[in-house]
Amino acid sequence: MTAAQGADYAETASSAYRDILSVIEQVEPRVAAATRQELTDQRGSLKLIASENYASPAVLLTMGTWFSDKYAEGTIGHRFYAACQNVDTVEALAAEHARELFGAPYAYAQPHSGIDANLVAYWAILATRVETPGLAEFGVKHVNDLSEADWELLRAKLGNQRLMGMSLDTGGHLTHGFRPNISGKMFHQRSYGTSPETGLIDYDAVAAAAREFKPLVLVAGYSAYPRRVNFAKMREIADEVGATLMVDMAHFAGLVAGKVFTGDEDPVPHAHVTTTTTHKSLRGPRGGLVLATEEYAPAVDKGCPMVLGGPLSHVMAAKAVALAEARRPEFRSYAQAVADNAQALAEGFLKRGGNLVTGGTDNHLVLLDVTSFGLTGRQAESALLDAGIVTNRNAVPADPNGAWYTSGIRFGTPALTTRGFGVKEFDKVADLVVEVLSNTSADGSSKAKYTLPDNIADGVKASSAELLDANPLYPGLTL
Ligand code: PLP
Repeated sequence: MTAAQGADYAETASSAYRDILSVIEQVEPRVAAATRQELTDQRGSLKLIASENYASPAVLLTMGTWFSDKYAEGTIGHRFYAACQNVDTVEALAAEHARELFGAPYAYAQPHSGIDANLVAYWAILATRVETPGLAEFGVKHVNDLSEADWELLRAKLGNQRLMGMSLDTGGHLTHGFRPNISGKMFHQRSYGTSPETGLIDYDAVAAAAREFKPLVLVAGYSAYPRRVNFAKMREIADEVGATLMVDMAHFAGLVAGKVFTGDEDPVPHAHVTTTTTHKSLRGPRGGLVLATEEYAPAVDKGCPMVLGGPLSHVMAAKAVALAEARRPEFRSYAQAVADNAQALAEGFLKRGGNLVTGGTDNHLVLLDVTSFGLTGRQAESALLDAGIVTNRNAVPADPNGAWYTSGIRFGTPALTTRGFGVKEFDKVADLVVEVLSNTSADGSSKAKYTLPDNIADGVKASSAELLDANPLYPGLTL
């Protein structure tokens, strides 16, 4: 049993949760009921969402404390509020664990989420590369010392910078410069994609695009690319064009922490700034983290007030606990199992005739093109859910069904690996998924409608239940 599964302290956690729920019940029983139901639902479904996991009871319980009540704007030892000594302790611990775990010179634990971590990173890069030299040109030290006219000139310069990131349909993220997100409104953006033949990143093509576009920021990292990235090559490209390399490892931070990605595949030694979420493969609380070189550290450290207000002190405490867990040897075995299980899932699909984007995986996720089953991503996602399999639809490169209906389903192994699933179980998962999809018929009148016979859904649920019962979530935890 791993700590994340909870068996080590199941009895204590059970009594803690019973007490917590009875307190909530006295105020708003419907919230207590929904909280109980959420555990039942999570225990009873095959969770294959690549961005989700199950944090340990230690991490979850750490979030439910009075740290939530404390304002602590500023940074460690330098706050705009009094009485932050204990917040200083937990924030410093989170940063220390992050530095040690990832081998980073500097870590910032305040971002509330991945999107916040990316905003902090972008503004830290703009501050370092544009604002600070701009102030020097005007002969002042602080923005408040500029005249209105000079401030307008500097603001215009800040708003006239370029960013290059991976295209959405090949696996990039909205925060990598796309118009619906603030990053696309801040920067002129151009995307790099993948090779239409192999589905892989073509580093020569990225270099050629970067030479032409000359971005200030080159972003590497993804939400739905099932392969490893060579960050040494990305850094070479960034250096050649004078860009800052920012890596968003939100999805695969657990594989970096667990030393599955090392050398050129470890982003931290190569990137100027690395961002991540803490709740996906890293298995911590919902939140963000920024790692930086000495050069960018002072600007990142000003995340508050730059783009953040008061940090979520209770979540920073939980980050410290989760990062301490990730430094244990068991986490390396977990991370390796996440990657091995993704391979097993991919092979399971391939041997049953599935069509995978890039032909396979070497990280924690698999992207199945469901058009070979005659379905859209939306139809496949809904049919799988009817059979108790929780996934999410995702665009495939040059997706004919667009970003809403899509043609793909993204599968990730971090959550079920936490439950104890191994390669045998993931082969069975592939079998169940194919069973659902090959028995689902699209309704030609809509990209959302479909039919899945009840007996198939029921049969798959029964087989899933066997797998789930053999690998319980939070074993021994009873409410
Ligand atoms: N960056 C990447 C690559 C992501 O996949 C995500 C979330 O899916 C984010 C950033 C944003 O994270 P959050 O939802 O915590 O804001």
